[in-house]
Amino acid sequence: MILPSYVALAVERLEAKGYEAWAVGGCVRDAGLGLIPHDYDLCTNALPEQIKAVFADYQLVLAGEKHGTVTVLTQGGPLEITTFRLEGDYADSRRPGWVRFVQDIDLDLSRRDFTVNAMAFSPSRGLRDPFGGREDLKNKILRAVGDPMCRFSEDALRILRGLRFSARFELSPEKETMDAMVTLSPLLDKLARERVFEELNNFMCVAKLDDLLRFERILARAIPELEATLGFDQHSPYHIYNVYEHTAHVVAAVPATPELRWAALLHDVGKPGCFTLDETGRGHFLGHTKLSAEMADQILLKLRAPTQLRCRVTDLIARHMTPLEADPRLLRRRMGRWGVEETLDLLALQRADMGSKGTEEPDIFAPVEAMIRELLEEKPCFTVKDLEVNGKDLIALGYSAGPGLGRCLESLLEMVQQEQIPNIKEDLLRQARSML
Ligand code: ATP
Ligand code: MG
Repeated sequence: MILPSYVALAVERLEAKGYEAWAVGGCVRDAGLGLIPHDYDLCTNALPEQIKAVFADYQLVLAGEKHGTVTVLTQGGPLEITTFRLEGDYADSRRPGWVRFVQDIDLDLSRRDFTVNAMAFSPSRGLRDPFGGREDLKNKILRAVGDPMCRFSEDALRILRGLRFSARFELSPEKETMDAMVTLSPLLDKLARERVFEELNNFMCVAKLDDLLRFERILARAIPELEATLGFDQHSPYHIYNVYEHTAHVVAAVPATPELRWAALLHDVGKPGCFTLDETGRGHFLGHTKLSAEMADQILLKLRAPTQLRCRVTDLIARHMTPLEADPRLLRRRMGRWGVEETLDLLALQRADMGSKGTEEPDIFAPVEAMIRELLEEKPCFTVKDLEVNGKDLIALGYSAGPGLGRCLESLLEMVQQEQIPNIKEDLLRQARSML
C-alpha cells in the first residue's frame, strides 16, 4: 500500500515524536481490493492533546475531540486522526456509553465492525491484521469482528452497513454473521430513521439482484411494509415471480439513482393490499398504483427522506402503469409538464417493470426512447421559457402584464407542442396579435 504524500507526512510527523501511527479502516480495505481509497483515516496512540501539539502549526477541527478525533486540514485535504480507543455500553443499540483511550492498536481494531474494515497499515510497520481481514477480502467474505451476536446487538447500524459492504464489494456474509444479522434485525426499529434511510439508500444504490434477494428478510424489517410482498404469489400468467422477487428484479434493472431505486423498490408495495382472485383463478391488483404511491409516500416520510426525493418517487410510482407512447405531441407535453429527466426516469421504470416478469415481453419502449432522443435533438420547447417570445414581446404588442399574458404564453406553448405553429418569433407574434 502506498500512502499519498500528505498522509505519509502526517504518519512520519507522529512517529518522529515517538508515537505509533497507522492508516486504518476503509482505506486499507480499498487498497487491498486494488481500489483507490476516497479518503484516509489515521489512528495513533497519541492522545488528542498530543495530536494537537504535533500539528500545532496546522488548522485543526476539534468537533470530534471527545471521541478522540482531531481533524488536521492538510494540503491534501482534511485528515482525521483518532486516538486508539475502546467503546462499550451501547445502551440504545447504537451509541457507545463510554469511550476509553488505549495504547494497543489491536484493541482499537477489535472494536471495528467487520474483519475487512479492521486492518491497519503503516509504511514502517507493514500490515496489521489480527482478525484475518486480508484473507476474508481475498475469499470475498464478510465476517463480523468477534462474536456477531454481540457486535450487532451493540450497534444495530452495523447490520445495514453489512448489507452495504456486502453489495459494494461483492462479499458473501459468513454464516454466523448472516444469521446474527437476520436474527437481530428487529433491533433496527431502535435506530434513528435518518440513519436507516441513509444506509438503505447507500445500499440500494449499489445493490444487485443477488443482494436484494438474500437480504430480503432484513430489508423487510427495515421497511415493514415490504413484509407482505415476500413470497406473495401473483396468480398471473404474466408473472413467474412473486411480488418481492419481481420488485428485486426491477430494482436491479433500473439505473442506480436514488429516485429510480426507491421507486422500483416501492412501486408494487401496495399489491398485497389490493389483491383479488377471480373465478378463473387469476389474480388482480385493482388500484395498486394509487395505494403503492400512497404507501411509498408514508414510508419515505417515516424514514425522513428528502422531500424532493419522496415527491419524485411517489410521482414515478403513480405513473408507472400508464405506458409512455411514441407520440411526439404527447411526449413533448409530458416533458414540458413533468420535466425531461422525470420522463426519462419514468421510461426507465416502465421498461424495467415490463422486463422483470420472467416472461418473454417485446421491448415496447425502444420506439419511445428513440422518439425522446429525436425530440431532445430538435430545439426542444417544453415550457413557456423555451418559446421564442416572452412577456416583454407581448407587452410590446399591447398585452398588459397579468394573468391574460400568462394564458397567452400557455396557449402559444400548447400550439407549438401540437405542431400547429412553429416556434419562430414572427409566427408566434402573429398568433399572439390575433388572440389579443
Ligand atoms: P466508506 O468507504 O464507505 O467510507 P469506511 O470503511 O471508511 O467505508 P466509515 O463509515 O468511514 O466506513 O468508517 C471508517 C471505519 O470505522 C470503518 O472501516 C470501521 O473500521 C469503523 N467503523 C465505522 N462505523 C462503525 C460502526 N458502526 N461499528 C464499528 N466500526 C465502525
Ligand atoms: Mg470512510
